[in-house]
Amino acid sequence: MISGEGARDATPSPRRLTIGHYPTAVEWVERLSARGFELWVKRDDLTNAEYGGNKVRKLERVLAEVRARGVTRIVTVGAAGSHHVLATTLFGKREGLEVEAVLVPQPSSEHVVEVLRASLARGLHAFPVSSRALVPAAVAARVVTGATFVPIGGSSVSGAMGYVDAAREIAAQVRAGAAPEPDVCVVALGSGGTAAGLTVGFEAERMKTRVVGVCVSDPKALVAFASRRLTRACARRAGVRATAAVLRHRLFIDTRFLGDGYGHATRDGDAATQDAKIGATLTLDATYTAKAFAAALWHVRARRSPRVLYLHTLSSAPMEPLLEGAAAIDAMDPALRALVTRS
Ligand SMILES: *Cc1c(COP(=O)(O)O)cnc(C)c1O
Repeated sequence: MISGEGARDATPSPRRLTIGHYPTAVEWVERLSARGFELWVKRDDLTNAEYGGNKVRKLERVLAEVRARGVTRIVTVGAAGSHHVLATTLFGKREGLEVEAVLVPQPSSEHVVEVLRASLARGLHAFPVSSRALVPAAVAARVVTGATFVPIGGSSVSGAMGYVDAAREIAAQVRAGAAPEPDVCVVALGSGGTAAGLTVGFEAERMKTRVVGVCVSDPKALVAFASRRLTRACARRAGVRATAAVLRHRLFIDTRFLGDGYGHATRDGDAATQDAKIGATLTLDATYTAKAFAAALWHVRARRSPRVLYLHTLSSAPMEPLLEGAAAIDAMDPALRALVTRS
């Protein structure tokens, strides 16, 4: 389904597909709030009933762009258990695209293995490599065969624009009285598209909300650099006139929760996962949301920010339907099996 002004023109230029259901709810987490320090959650886990999470808003733009160019085959990049690769496979195939991905190793967990198995079961063509250094050559090898490149995490400027709209959605919910205006919006920062879009959106809406991007990827300095550059590009695309200094102030990148690196569980993250389960009935993953939720809890418990909005980026849709017909990990090609490493 296509929305956007160009949809009925002779030469359509759709700005976005409709994959998600909006607005997603904002909820008060009473049991994890303290007196004068409230924790709220934006339920982007529920963007789509089949597979939700934050990749949906980005792919609505990324896939529309690809389709408008008449592309039939795409190649993207991710870790073994990449949510972006699974979402791209699901929604890309729905748009009639062939989907390929260069995959790099990730510390093993039940969740990581499930996401990998689901991606393969849903028709992903996987190209495993043994280290990140081998990614550019592996992608180039697919591009020369005619595949169109989709950036890691779907975090092109177009993809990030999905979160400019999400910030506008939050602003509308605040205006409607569904939630108080947050002091901070806490979100996991991997490829940076989500945090970049939110930053620009809150700036456009002139809200007081600052974005806390909880760095879950490494090297930290490169992640921060790329995220800030993406934020500036996103502001230009959105027509938001803000200086680099203003955008820098609005997006705070917190690297304290990363631990041993991308995909490595942390003690704070494990504790936050327990708290989220009991106090908020949310299920977290070790790579992204455990670390982001730990940061959100810190803002409440250290009495840092009176109104904390945690943006839940992990799909909460059941995995069973996506795993239908999936091969067991032991039955996989050894190069694929080697992607899930000891944590
Ligand atoms: C991809 C992902 C993120 C990170 O979003 P970016 O836009 O890449 O920074 C956060 N949480 C979850 C669950 C994700 O899958």
